[in-house]
Amino acid sequence: NLRVLLKRRPNGAPVPEDFEISAGPVPEPGEGEVLVRHRFVSLDPYMRGRMSDAKSYAKPVALGEVMEAAAVGEVIASRDPRFAPGDHVTNAFGWQQFSAVAGSRLIKVDPKEAPLSANVGVLGMPGLTAWVGLQDIGQPKSGETVVVSAASGAVGQVVGQIAKQRGARVVGIAGGQAKCDFIRTELGFDAAVDHRGDLNAQLDAACPDGIDVYWENVGGAVQEAVFPRFRDFGRMVMCGMISQYNEAPGADAKGAPAGPNLGPVVRKRLRIQGFIVSDSGWQRYGQFRSEMLDWIGNGKLHWREDVVEGIEKMPAAFIGLLKGANFGKLVVKVD
Ligand code: NDP
Repeated sequence: NLRVLLKRRPNGAPVPEDFEISAGPVPEPGEGEVLVRHRFVSLDPYMRGRMSDAKSYAKPVALGEVMEAAAVGEVIASRDPRFAPGDHVTNAFGWQQFSAVAGSRLIKVDPKEAPLSANVGVLGMPGLTAWVGLQDIGQPKSGETVVVSAASGAVGQVVGQIAKQRGARVVGIAGGQAKCDFIRTELGFDAAVDHRGDLNAQLDAACPDGIDVYWENVGGAVQEAVFPRFRDFGRMVMCGMISQYNEAPGADAKGAPAGPNLGPVVRKRLRIQGFIVSDSGWQRYGQFRSEMLDWIGNGKLHWREDVVEGIEKMPAAFIGLLKGANFGKLVVKVD
């Protein structure tokens, strides 16, 4: 069982030496547990938070332990009567080839409904994040302008397409021409803004009437450029700020670049709200999954994955994710 362990806590951007690749025995399932052979393991930005012991909404991964991750795989052996060998399941299994997990934590998935890897992407936590955040906070209406950052990524792709389904005009912000072309031509976004270019001029051109909903995935300079362009009663969905994840805790207190001027929050009666998908998302997973499968079946939802092969490639792929090296939802195919 090839596994990736957390060897030390990163100082700034993670480096390969923060991880350790370790080979161990395939675990034995205990009473009520299921042995799963992973087929695809998900790599997600939140894992940077789990590498740090700064206070957060979730516990850090302990030093020497397997890095946390969602995965989808096949049941090899089961000591829970609800699962049998050959079933496909998903949930949190870690950066490893096999895991023995309590059956109560598993969700059974049908590989005929969608490609297996989609269960950790568009039909998994990132897709659920998009669906929950738009339903609870963004609430885009027909004719409104929705702007989403990291638009070609796992969450951003789905945010933009759901907002389109709701009748909004969607502007995606992404890094580089290829990602900008993808969100316009393949995902049907109305306009694309390249954050490596002149953000202010491009946002003015793409959002001539201002912004009603901003889905925040990156923070920093992008947030600063979006902020003054809000319309009255705008909503800001605070999903993540990946450009700041490698900053030391408290960096925003001293030494970090100044944030946006928040004056418009008052003048324009804006609503800014953060959320964590696990707060209430998984309770609505059934409703989410059936709506998404309908859209997939009707050809109304598209997605792109960035597939890396092999557990031992996970550290480098994750380091790349925090710099925008991925193009689409980053997943690892397990040998
Ligand atoms: P993505 O698939 O979007 O991958 C990350 C992308 O972020 C990169 O491809 C890159 O896109 C962009 N990026 C990386 N570094 C920077 C940087 N320094 N400046 C600007 N952009 C950068 O990841 P996800 O879709 O999985 O996650 C998107 C966001 O959603 C993250 O902030 C994540 O933490 C958050 N999230 C929050 C959840 C919640 O419950 N609140 C749940 C899930 C995700 P580009 O090249 O286009 O810049």
